[in-house]
Amino acid sequence: DFTVINNLDKQLPSEMLTEDKSRQKSAFQMLQEDRKTLPIYPYHHNLLQAIEDYQVLVIVGETGSGKTTQIPQYLHEAGYTKLGLKVGCTQPRRVAAMSVATRVSQEMGVKLGHEVGYSIRFEDCTSPHTVIKYMTDGMLLREIINEPNLASYSVIMVDEAHERTLSTDILLGLLKDLIKSRPDLKLIISSATLDAVKFSDYFDSAPIFKIPGRKYPVEIHYTTTPECDYIDAAIVTVLQIHATQPPGDILVFLTGQQEIETAEEILKHRMRGLGTKIAELITCPIYANLPAQLQTKIFDPVPDGARKVVLATNIAETSLTIDGIKYVIDSGFAKVKSYIPRTGMESLLVNSICKASALQRAGRAGRTGPGKCFRLLGIDDLANFDFIDPPPVESLIKALELLFALGALNKYGELTKTGRRMAEFPLDPMLSKVIVASDKYDCSNEIITIVAMLSVGNSIFYRPKDKKVHADNARMNFHLGNVGDHISLLRVYNSWRECNYSTQWCHENYIQVKSIKRARDIRDQLEGLLKRVEIENKSNPNDLDSLRKAITSGFFPHCARLQKNGSYLTVKHPQRAHIHPSSGLAQELPRWVVYHELVLTTKEYMRQSLFLSVDIWVGTEEFVIDGDYRRPVGVVLFNHSDIDFEVNHGDMIAQLILQKITTPE
Ligand code: ADP
Ligand code: MG
Repeated sequence: DFTVINNLDKQLPSEMLTEDKSRQKSAFQMLQEDRKTLPIYPYHHNLLQAIEDYQVLVIVGETGSGKTTQIPQYLHEAGYTKLGLKVGCTQPRRVAAMSVATRVSQEMGVKLGHEVGYSIRFEDCTSPHTVIKYMTDGMLLREIINEPNLASYSVIMVDEAHERTLSTDILLGLLKDLIKSRPDLKLIISSATLDAVKFSDYFDSAPIFKIPGRKYPVEIHYTTTPECDYIDAAIVTVLQIHATQPPGDILVFLTGQQEIETAEEILKHRMRGLGTKIAELITCPIYANLPAQLQTKIFDPVPDGARKVVLATNIAETSLTIDGIKYVIDSGFAKVKSYIPRTGMESLLVNSICKASALQRAGRAGRTGPGKCFRLLGIDDLANFDFIDPPPVESLIKALELLFALGALNKYGELTKTGRRMAEFPLDPMLSKVIVASDKYDCSNEIITIVAMLSVGNSIFYRPKDKKVHADNARMNFHLGNVGDHISLLRVYNSWRECNYSTQWCHENYIQVKSIKRARDIRDQLEGLLKRVEIENKSNPNDLDSLRKAITSGFFPHCARLQKNGSYLTVKHPQRAHIHPSSGLAQELPRWVVYHELVLTTKEYMRQSLFLSVDIWVGTEEFVIDGDYRRPVGVVLFNHSDIDFEVNHGDMIAQLILQKITTPE
């Protein structure tokens, strides 16, 4: 009696039917069959009824039951997108938004970006026809600014609300207000079981709809002693499973891109060593910065007889579900953005996962049949796992302090003209401020290049294991004159541009082609945004001081002073740090530096340091040197007690800037 599913045939675009009609259609029909096997499918009628009956509904269900991919489609099929209205679904992670939108477009037999699209920072893959839109919660916050009552939406689904980024919290606060003036707008909050009651309470006892999952037993195995080298332990376990266990794919949880790449390299090497004695093992990495085309590879079925091993970050914990996984290997670690009260910083730290995560990871092995989970940590450690809950109030105050210091808010918490211009850029506030400040120093042309290069993260330079010396030499060329890493990045980009954006040039100079191309895309977008805020695109390539001044206008809260022993002490929240060995300033050790970010690994490292000569800065507005102490007072002057305003959930624009501080990638 599910008439809507039958209607789907009518929505098949004509080109799909003409070319190899029968085969295409059967692939499409197979997807439709798949949809009906999902745990959520038997409940779709009741679910639609509940959505009809209540304005706010909290939904809980096992990962993989079909919440993210199916609910927006059910709503579409039930007519919620009539009259061109949209169903919006927010995701805490960019990768999830892209991947799920891709899947749903396939299930609906439409081209991605048409009826089904996604919107993430720097990438809007939607069209005027889009009716199902996946996006990061940060992007929905941005939309609220342009369209405060979200008039073009009939339903908003806040997915994985339990992830609780600052953006999610702000979003929920705004939506709570907004639904009062939009009684026709439906709000769906999907959350992990544990937090459902909290969300229900927040929305005046909204009903909770439970989708019973299908869980098969998962046998848990522990390594006898805690493994110190969990990458190696994970690789050995993968190979053991591959050699001795019945068919079924393997999912390995590691902490980040670098570990995953290392593991992939070693695995491939060892597999080559085994030759043809053993069945094929196909490795598929998945992490946030992996290019989109490669991300979808994890979902491809493998040839008969082969086995797939997915090397993943905690993205695969709840955001993405990969079918066919029978074995899970859990390193017990994850990289999490943690708030460190001592320093007032947020940092990406490798940390033990909490018990709930460990259970969730194991559960990934038991979705389609009984499975096995191998934990590489001792059981005693697991008992002590504790959840790291960032204190939202503290980080909120910290964020407001920063906006105040940057001149984006006045002391009443109102947005200033600078703040309004900053809000146009989809960047962290410190980077937005650098761009806005570049107007004054007539160097926005260079500054947007630097900002674009910084925005692609730490992946511009390529350093293959067997060519480290060559790569380091190539990099040193850009550092000549100890100008500081920001300027080196500018040189890299400009040299590439002078060579007509040549790929060959990138190879010769050990520059990652994909990363620098992405920088060019971002730069193009920033260039467009300059016009919107009426900043003239002026070039001042040889005046390095102007560039430094502009950068410092945004990054003065990140300055550090050289200590006698060669380390640095950060100024705002005194903390010991070192110049990263890859920096052009690692030998130079200037008295003052402004750094891009502090990376906590084995040592606290500052990445991308800008040389700061004290004299230059005397008298500049943003960075005044205190005569007696010769220290930058601009950095130490502001603190919480200077600010005379309360956290006001009504000021959407301020919050919009705020959310950029903590939007996870
Ligand atoms: P939930 O949101 O409840 O965790 P999803 O809707 O994400 O569940 O997943 C439902 C099903 O869709 C799963 O079986 C998953 O394997 C499949 N799926 C989701 N995304 C993709 C994708 N990009 N490619 C292939 N299959 C996918
Ligand atoms: Mg989901």
